[in-house]
Amino acid sequence: MRFQVTRALDAIEFRMRTDPLLTGAVVDIAEAVHLPGPDGRPANLLRLGFVIDAISRHLSDESVAVYAIGNRGVLADTDLTSNERMALRRWSDDGLIEILPAGAPVLSRVCEVAWNLGLPVITSRQLAGFPGGKLVPAPAAGSITLVEVGTVHPPQRLPVLSRLWRCPVPACPSYSQTGQQAPPQLTGAGVPVCPRHGERLGDAGPRPAAVAIALRVDGLAKYRFPLVAGISLVIGRAPDGPGAIVLGPHLTSHIAPRVSRSHLRMELRDGAVVVTDISTNGSLLNLCSERGAQPKVEAMTRGTPVTLGEWDAVELAEGVEVARADRFHGVRSETEASSVMQDAPTIAMRLPKL
Ligand SMILES: [Zn+2]
Repeated sequence: MRFQVTRALDAIEFRMRTDPLLTGAVVDIAEAVHLPGPDGRPANLLRLGFVIDAISRHLSDESVAVYAIGNRGVLADTDLTSNERMALRRWSDDGLIEILPAGAPVLSRVCEVAWNLGLPVITSRQLAGFPGGKLVPAPAAGSITLVEVGTVHPPQRLPVLSRLWRCPVPACPSYSQTGQQAPPQLTGAGVPVCPRHGERLGDAGPRPAAVAIALRVDGLAKYRFPLVAGISLVIGRAPDGPGAIVLGPHLTSHIAPRVSRSHLRMELRDGAVVVTDISTNGSLLNLCSERGAQPKVEAMTRGTPVTLGEWDAVELAEGVEVARADRFHGVRSETEASSVMQDAPTIAMRLPKL
């Protein structure tokens, strides 16, 4: 049983991120671990798995992560086992979750992150003054489902989000390296501070533009990766070299041979995704005027770059598409997303009437 719990926690850990390109919703850790459960315990870290499964199904996306926030109180919550508290501490040290100082108001930070990144909050609580969207957990057979309330707005284009930041606390898990950083906390005066340490952040230069790209197979997002301005990527079944994005492991043996070893080059230019077919198998463009519209299909010309429109996707083989990750959302798949809880002990898995 302990082994199964460890496996399930590993699967959950893989879907905990504070990188804005990888996350699809924001959640208060304390609320999630205290969701009602069938195991008789008041809290269980595995219940974060229910939340991840629910957002996967809601978005038809097995690759999306959850931005989870707590304060130091959750690290001392004796409703959790010492192993679970240790896992949370490790996730915090690795920057996978965001832990605020003891007593810090978690919900206001949850709302700040959600609003700035254009994400919904998963909660059944009232969010006074929050203008964004919520996903309210509701019981479903053996799991939970999410009910949309309100409207999720697009990400904010605050100048603070176009810079990289450095925390004066050495080895701060949130603001000590470059790459995709969590949005800073802003004081009432608009000064960026580290949410973990309360320290004023130093400006570490411009943040390169980046978008998340998703691989979708039969309507289900299987994998996502960042496309950063100035870095050209080669995606395919098994490309080599720098910038290689290997899709093979995410494809069935039936479809994989139809995707070329090196199939498509992708770049981000002036905020737009530019794609060039470099395959021997050919690619199609699925051109969409709006979310979920019936696509107009065009064949790509090998070697000729094409700038994708907002809702366009490239079809590498039948049912195998790549496009901006957020553009796939709202388009439900017939295929059910797989569960992070498949290795969990049965007693923790069977959920609960809320
Ligand atoms: Zn810090």
